[in-house]
Amino acid sequence: MRILVTNDDGIDSPGLRALVRDLTVRGHDVAVVAPNGQQSAISRALTMNRILRSYPAELAGFSGTCQRVEGTPVDCVKLGVLELLTERPDLVVSGVNIGTNLGGDVLYSGTVAAAMEAAYLGLPAVAYSTSSVRGGFPDFGMLDDVLEWSFTLIEEHPLPRGTILNVNFPQRDVKGFRTAPLGSMNYDEHYVRRVDPRGGAYYWLDGGSLGEKEDARTDVYWFDNGYCTATPLKLDITDHEFLHDIID
Ligand code: MN
Repeated sequence: MRILVTNDDGIDSPGLRALVRDLTVRGHDVAVVAPNGQQSAISRALTMNRILRSYPAELAGFSGTCQRVEGTPVDCVKLGVLELLTERPDLVVSGVNIGTNLGGDVLYSGTVAAAMEAAYLGLPAVAYSTSSVRGGFPDFGMLDDVLEWSFTLIEEHPLPRGTILNVNFPQRDVKGFRTAPLGSMNYDEHYVRRVDPRGGAYYWLDGGSLGEKEDARTDVYWFDNGYCTATPLKLDITDHEFLHDIID
């Protein structure tokens, strides 16, 4: 398959390199169009009011098309598909994000947004994320098994137009693979207030996951119990149930 790879952690992320390496080893024709720097939690932001530059880039051991874009993950997918690539990809793959994208995280995530942009352009897409590791980089030894499982899944059940697959895998002791709905990722979030040398206040957002409150079998639940999870997500986020109630 012709696969476009992007991410939101930037083209130099080891998560993207692991993905490119594994996909190439699996025999895919890979092209990379990825942000120049960190774009996490940028969601589906699109560059509109400033110029968008893209430069040829190099990844060690990779000889395919490779571009770094001074823009967002969505810019990368749109520019890649509409302009930079000579052929339309068969699949767009985003990640591997360093940090999970579970439950409500998906609406902040640039990783997931890149996949959503591909869906908007009529292409199937998968987003991959794994746990971050404090003070180091995650291990991507598990990635090949995750690719095998998720690629088989979308081969046996082709993604409907406008739907993507959001995949999260844990760092160790993987118990198995589960498809699940989004959970309600809850954080005990708070801002840490600090003061700069000139006396001005600045803030860091901090807080850990509180996990799934109930035993609902969601992505958060399965992931917390050691499983790799996959959740199909749709571009259309209309609440059809409630719409039915307020129909005029
Ligand atoms: Mn990220």
